[in-house]
Amino acid sequence: MEVFYLISFFMIGAVLGSFYNVLGIRIVKHESIIMPRSHCDKCGHILKWYELIPILSFVFLRGRCRECKTKLSWLYPFSELFCGILFAISYYSFGFSWNLIISLTLSSLLIIVTVSDLTYMIIPNRFIIIPSIIILLVKLIGFGLTTFLTSLLYGIISFAIMFFIMKFGTYIFKKEALGGADVKLMFVVGICVEPFLSLIVIIIASVIALPVSLLLLYKEKENIIPFGPFIVIGLLIVYFTKLNAIDIINTFIKK
Ligand SMILES: [Zn+2]
Repeated sequence: MEVFYLISFFMIGAVLGSFYNVLGIRIVKHESIIMPRSHCDKCGHILKWYELIPILSFVFLRGRCRECKTKLSWLYPFSELFCGILFAISYYSFGFSWNLIISLTLSSLLIIVTVSDLTYMIIPNRFIIIPSIIILLVKLIGFGLTTFLTSLLYGIISFAIMFFIMKFGTYIFKKEALGGADVKLMFVVGICVEPFLSLIVIIIASVIALPVSLLLLYKEKENIIPFGPFIVIGLLIVYFTKLNAIDIINTFIKK
């Protein structure tokens, strides 16, 4: 039955990934998320049901609109595929538990943040507020008042630290070094993991972001890359691997 659940979670993730793509793109443009129905951005061709199947449709259509043959964004199949994989990993890591809800929320957050940050270099507040509320509710209902209050406090602390770093960076470099959304995302990191692990999240995010930004700088001469998605990737890695602050310190002491 384990495989059945893994496949189910993958499929739910792929369908939601497709929906998150629409959310990530339309919310920023202040468009309705239901109307107009999914269409080709170029010719307005309304997609039939068989053109809306996650991942498979993209493969069958060879990445092009059926009417005008315009290339479709690779973000569609990628976010569907990745959301599916992240949902399956979430179930694999946590089974049916309260942590699974947090893990699924973070996976969803990653997809939405990546889509809107890559498309517009913006992360709307509600994409951060709604997941925060879900996570805090899980902490309260699933883990009790003490955990809820501690998480909230940690969230505020890591938000404050990142805010300070941002102000300091702006003062030093005389230009914005970090976006406001990155600071807000640190609140989400803080409510999910302990303060020490928040630091690990930033380190992982930077380590992954560095080669990617160098590559982009080399290929496209683009010097601004969104840091937001990397923060969430770092958080997911820490969350999935169930990293524990005490274990990390112990391994360093033993060496
Ligand atoms: Zn078209």
